[in-house]
Amino acid sequence: MIRKEIKTFNKKMFEKLIIPFYSPSSIIPIYGKGSRVFDRLGKDYIDFSSGIGVTALGHCNFLIQKSLVLQSKKLWHISNLFVNEPAINLAQRLNSTTSFSSRVFFSNSGAEANEAAFKLARYYSNKVYGFHKNKIVSFLNSFHGRTFFTVCVGGQFKYSDGFGPKPSEIFHIPYNDIKAIKSVVDDSTCAVVVEPIQGEGGVIPAKMDFMQKLRNICNKHDVLLIVDEIQTGMGRTGKLYCYEHYNIEPDIITLAKALGSGFPIGATLVNEKISKVVEIGIHGSTYGGNPLSCAIAETSLKIINSEKFLLNVRKKNKIFVKELLKINRRINIFNEIRGKGLLLGIDLKNKYKNEINKIILSSAKEGVLILKAGKNVIRLLPPLNIKNKDIKEGMFRFYKALKNI
Ligand SMILES: *Cc1c(COP(=O)(O)O)cnc(C)c1O
Repeated sequence: MIRKEIKTFNKKMFEKLIIPFYSPSSIIPIYGKGSRVFDRLGKDYIDFSSGIGVTALGHCNFLIQKSLVLQSKKLWHISNLFVNEPAINLAQRLNSTTSFSSRVFFSNSGAEANEAAFKLARYYSNKVYGFHKNKIVSFLNSFHGRTFFTVCVGGQFKYSDGFGPKPSEIFHIPYNDIKAIKSVVDDSTCAVVVEPIQGEGGVIPAKMDFMQKLRNICNKHDVLLIVDEIQTGMGRTGKLYCYEHYNIEPDIITLAKALGSGFPIGATLVNEKISKVVEIGIHGSTYGGNPLSCAIAETSLKIINSEKFLLNVRKKNKIFVKELLKINRRINIFNEIRGKGLLLGIDLKNKYKNEINKIILSSAKEGVLILKAGKNVIRLLPPLNIKNKDIKEGMFRFYKALKNI
């Protein structure tokens, strides 16, 4: 029965059955283990993408699987009319990972975590200062999710145009531009939202000075600083959260992607002054904080949040960079390698910029999965626990793919 389904399944069926928001690869992965996925013919692909930064502990991680099975025998779902133990345990553990957050809201995705953050910011400012303090400031090229509010806050208009009237009082300014913040952020601003590294937008890290000045300017006008850690959090950059590299304290951070190691969950962590103004019923989610997702997320947080694990992420960054430089000495097609930890961006030399889709296809053919960011940056988001021999093998396949371009 299963055999037959697999045999007849192909991309044509996708085209007939699924609303075409995506145009997927013709590779059809059917199982994964560690840093590799396998297609129907048993061909293996080294996964330098982790979904899109989701399966940070590799595919079918044994400890994650164990906590999923264990919780699945106890309780999958209960409404938010009840508390549940896994949600309380995860909240406690998450709050202990930051110096600023005292409470958390659970949802099911990154967009929902940001949606809650933006609604909370507006609600807080409205309550404490009145309706006039409602401006949300965001950065050009940023990405914050695909619900209508989050896509309008995001700084890529190709994602928000075409859906009718947008929510108002959202302002977009250039990233890493302190002057722009100074000229736009004022007493009528309620929040600034920032990715410490723009992931989707091209793997562009925020500058130290920029983040610190941003915090100062926000303090001056009691503006909430929301740091979107959905892609950069959970150890991705070699610290548990990327904002820790900047010696600043946010008011809100949002998490998703790697939080559930592949099981959907989002979280919005806020400081006490924000939680204080909240009233029962102003926000909610049916699935948010369900026991299954929270049990799994607690296990993944436990694994990632250890000094040894994070140190290894930083060490693996060095191996990746070294291997990439080695490739570039041979074929000289990279302009710049940037990012932190295992969020890496490869900016190609001008004459190869248009070849990026070909490079992705050719890499898959050689058996390595890579991603694009922005228009023409190669983005690598390998599992954080990828074995050194898989890095080397993946890099060799990547090199072969590049050589064919
Ligand atoms: C992926 C991502 C989101 C959206 O997360 P979803 O789970 O797809 O809703 C938001 N912000 C950043 C920085 C992301 O990388």
